[in-house]
Amino acid sequence: MTATHIVFERVGKSYDSVKGPTKALTGVNFEICEGEVFGIIGRSGAGKSTLLRTINALELPTEGRVTVHGTDPATLPEDALVQLRRKIGMIFQHFNLLSSKTVWDNVALPLRVAGASASDMRERVGKLLNLVGLADKAHAYPAQLSGGQKQRVGIARALVHSPEILLCDEATSALDPETTQSILGLLRDINRQLGLTVVLITHDMAVIRAICDRVLVLDQGEMQEIGEVWSVFGAPQSQASQAMLRSLKQGLPHEVVQQLQPTADTAHSHALIGLRFHDLPAGQGLPLAALQALEVLCRGTELIHGGLDHLQGHSVGQLIIRIPAANLTDAETMRQTAGADTLEILGYVQSH
Ligand code: ADP
Repeated sequence: MTATHIVFERVGKSYDSVKGPTKALTGVNFEICEGEVFGIIGRSGAGKSTLLRTINALELPTEGRVTVHGTDPATLPEDALVQLRRKIGMIFQHFNLLSSKTVWDNVALPLRVAGASASDMRERVGKLLNLVGLADKAHAYPAQLSGGQKQRVGIARALVHSPEILLCDEATSALDPETTQSILGLLRDINRQLGLTVVLITHDMAVIRAICDRVLVLDQGEMQEIGEVWSVFGAPQSQASQAMLRSLKQGLPHEVVQQLQPTADTAHSHALIGLRFHDLPAGQGLPLAALQALEVLCRGTELIHGGLDHLQGHSVGQLIIRIPAANLTDAETMRQTAGADTLEILGYVQSH
């Protein structure tokens, strides 16, 4: 990986409110490298937004410090902070466009504020509207645009000062899945073409999977897990990541999920079990011998759902199997027999 860009050193943040202090961040300690797309994921209230905003000093840590290329924004005088913020673009969930201004004027505004000449503005705004695919919408007003187009304007505006960092605050949360993919594709292209460091926060695993190199899982203001996306997805270590990755259950038919019980009711119950195969050899499938071995151990093993995912050149397999509760053995023996990296009992269903 390339040079370190943003460093968080034991960052803590408390907010004072009428109800007393709220601890939003505790002991956050990690680094983001130059040119990477870094995702921060967590539930609502996890502290993602607070953490993102410490990078451009929209929020100041109450403990520890954040440095950007060695500079702590919290220590800068106002004019130096303005200069630093120009090197850190930001886009938002609700786009934050001025409805009374055209697309062209929305993008040009930060340049106008910085005192750019008319010809510089024309050249720069023209280039950026081309980059985001909106050259033909220069004279449109935000109300005439789709959500995806509005976010493209937001991206063009965030890039006017040729920033080194782009912060994305739930940038696709207001968009439908197809538009989300096109905006994420654009962010990936920009990251590659311009070499920008992209830091994004989201509650949506699909966003992380689509474009991030590494991910930090945040829960109740604390770091739960950090690593390359394929590794965190393939073998989530923390409870918070496992909870967010409960997507194994999402592969099941709705009726089955509704029937799931936490314990076996009768001798005729079946256990539904999720297996994850982390980092299978490149280009290889999941050997069926794994299931055959399990069938020898636990008679009546059936495959309910499964698939292989390819992430960052690694294959990650996920299977859901059903085993009669009476034939179960201990989880660790089943996991080893199947050669899986993790095994999780998702619940129990009545057999018909
Ligand atoms: P997320 O972005 O993950 O939803 P936030 O960073 O917005 O989380 O919030 C983290 C915690 O800090 C929450 O408990 C939230 O209520 C609290 N918080 C955020 N901003 C403020 C504020 N300006 N004043 C008081 N509490 C705040």
